[in-house]
Amino acid sequence: MCHPGIASFLLAVSLAAQTTYPSKFSPALPERDDVKQAIAFIDAHFEQQVKEWIHITEIPAPSGQESERAAYVKAEFEKAGLQPAIDPSGNVVARRKGTGGGPTLVFAAHMDTVFPRSIDVRVTKKPDGTLHAPGVGDNSASVANLLQALRALQAANVRTRGDVVFLATVQEEAGLKGMYAWLERNKGAADMLVALDGSLGPVRYGALGVYWSRMKFTAPGAHTNRSRGVPNPVRAAAQCITDIYTIPLPEPGAPVQAVYNAGGMMSAGEVVNAVPREVTFTVDLRTVDKELLGSLDDAMVSKCEQAAQAQRVTFTREWIMRSAAGGRPEDLTDRRRHPIVQTAVDVLRYLNFELPKGHEADPDGSTDANAGVVNSIPSISTGRARGEGQHTLGEWADIDSARIGAKQIVLLAAALTEPDR
Ligand SMILES: [Zn+2]
Repeated sequence: MCHPGIASFLLAVSLAAQTTYPSKFSPALPERDDVKQAIAFIDAHFEQQVKEWIHITEIPAPSGQESERAAYVKAEFEKAGLQPAIDPSGNVVARRKGTGGGPTLVFAAHMDTVFPRSIDVRVTKKPDGTLHAPGVGDNSASVANLLQALRALQAANVRTRGDVVFLATVQEEAGLKGMYAWLERNKGAADMLVALDGSLGPVRYGALGVYWSRMKFTAPGAHTNRSRGVPNPVRAAAQCITDIYTIPLPEPGAPVQAVYNAGGMMSAGEVVNAVPREVTFTVDLRTVDKELLGSLDDAMVSKCEQAAQAQRVTFTREWIMRSAAGGRPEDLTDRRRHPIVQTAVDVLRYLNFELPKGHEADPDGSTDANAGVVNSIPSISTGRARGEGQHTLGEWADIDSARIGAKQIVLLAAALTEPDR
């Protein structure tokens, strides 16, 4: 066993050896009377938080059909003493005034899920302390955390210098539409943005660029008997998919990665005995590197154009969704130095959440925070609870870890709304 004095000396040495980033969190903050009370509120009312979490999960909310969930959230914001509104996109927004002189902080939790109404979203609670249902994590847990953190701030009358905006967004899963629209309508309103999304883990301060396209090949079509040598959209699409998969990606282990998936969805004809008039397939392309995103996309389109030309068919590319890239890690070193990142890391550490070593904060992300990153607003995303299987029917979440999810919101609200020193 090590002498405690020596241990703390060694700890101090090892901490000094690491890069230090500015943080607005200090161990004195959770000891402040109002903040302490708010944290205690979360523990004292945790059973209610879990009940509400289950309730929210069971309100169906496919992207574009969030209104029932939105009505619930709006009513709860109201009961908590705020004056919420539903904006033209369907986002629910409410402002909690600060005492003045501090930055405005926006918390955003998306309400939509990827599951159509036909999917059973009833929650099963298992004896191992987990909840199971499609959407139970992504992002119902964050919506519940946000509501409970607001109640805690109100009950303990936590004073913040800056305002805190509570934003429940729509259509995150359909290209961050609600978030982009809110930022567009409220230019300059957000000094910082914290998206509450993802499993608990690294704090993310970058933006993974995502391009979703539909590649479409068309021709007049023909009966099989007359099909020999006619322009054939199937052959063009098949050739194009084959050619796309020859486009090189960064080597495994390279600092910046990219990935694509061609043909996730495909459509062609309806009968056996004809060359179809129209064939489509989708492409999902992802990387944080803006230039690489553009060059890979150009390369794919050009493969399709060549294949279409060879088969004498018409090619068009339709956009399904486009989410801009935040930039390579080296482009984001200034972002890493913004206190929003290290404050969130320190808050999670204070709450005894073990962050992956060396990956406390990552320069990527695919949440509402991406819209902030590409709009040059200091933005992060941070998680809601432990869990896995998001976007699948087997999605589950660990119940107890949602305490951390809710408490971090209280601490971030108190820390980040302080004026810069
Ligand atoms: Zn999500």
